[in-house]
Amino acid sequence: MTSAVKKPLFEAIALIGLGLIGASIGHAVRRHGLARRIHGTARTAATRKTALALGIVDATFESAPEAAAGADLVILCTPVGTFGELAKALAPALEEGAILSDVGSVKQAVIRDVGPHVPDGVHFIPAHPIAGTEQSGPEAGFAELFEGRWCVLTPLAETDAGALGRLEAFWRALGSQVEIMEADHHDLVLAITSHLPHLIAYNIVGTAADLEEVTKSEIIKFSAGGFRDFTRLAASDPVMWRDVFLNNREAVLETLGRFSEDLAALQRAIRWSDGEALYELFSRTRAIRRGIIEAGQDTSAPDFGRIAKPQGSAAAPARGRGGGKRP
Ligand code: NAP
Repeated sequence: MTSAVKKPLFEAIALIGLGLIGASIGHAVRRHGLARRIHGTARTAATRKTALALGIVDATFESAPEAAAGADLVILCTPVGTFGELAKALAPALEEGAILSDVGSVKQAVIRDVGPHVPDGVHFIPAHPIAGTEQSGPEAGFAELFEGRWCVLTPLAETDAGALGRLEAFWRALGSQVEIMEADHHDLVLAITSHLPHLIAYNIVGTAADLEEVTKSEIIKFSAGGFRDFTRLAASDPVMWRDVFLNNREAVLETLGRFSEDLAALQRAIRWSDGEALYELFSRTRAIRRGIIEAGQDTSAPDFGRIAKPQGSAAAPARGRGGGKRP
């Protein structure tokens, strides 16, 4: 229990949503003693029961306003499409001086949907931890998820410096590095580093599934040729990703336009046997991979550190540092 901690950053933290991200925050808050109490809520009784049983929260509540009562930090950890309604419902329950934050993968839409409902005296500070896996639900959460990863905060012009400092200290205590950014820039950066890669993965896996000349069992059998790396991204939660694309439309369409032009250039290079163009691009992209490893954002182990297993044995779970993380 967190009641014995000496100097917690917060008295009570309310987690609205107890899936991968909410549960990971709960575990990490408890491990680092960042709050005296952790409140939680989720849409279904089953998730609330699991979160309580796993010790992610001290108490669960049927509704978001009940969970937020008495909390000095409230974090929205549900799909982005739910934020507007939740903020509206939460407003009367938010304490004067409390921080209202979120973990949503887009930021301009969150400011648009949540901002109008935030009462005077409550500090609204949008945030996005760039950490995740393709798994969902309370059982998927783990305390180390945020360690060594970036958390982007997109404060508003009027955000109180003291409240911003407290939230920054919170994410640093969870093991993250913190970057402050404008919301529109965040959405553009994430469109290319996260949203487009997921869209490409969903598309390629969809194309493979629809091919008539190649059977499904052949696709699975020979997936180690590269396909399986796309399937990890394409296994991500459909509700979360639907909401990301609906709420970061402009930036995604902008980067998709650039991507399509570059793809057409590659198509031309292959058609005209322009090996030099292909070699030049493939050499540049290798350097990007090296940069990611040098920055500690992935492992340098061959094949992403997968351990070769004899046929028929279970694969090692993709958890912890360097094991299947993504924003
Ligand atoms: P998740 O594992 O699917 O969990 C979502 C949680 O939200 C569940 O506990 C669900 O409850 C609850 N929920 C849904 N609608 C609700 C509502 N109307 N009221 C109360 N609770 C509700 O999702 P996640 O991966 O943790 O993602 C949560 C947020 O984090 C999203 O906004 C996403 O953009 C952001 N994010 C995700 C990642 C990632 O890699 N997954 C990374 C960074 C940021 P039930 O279980 O009862 O349905």
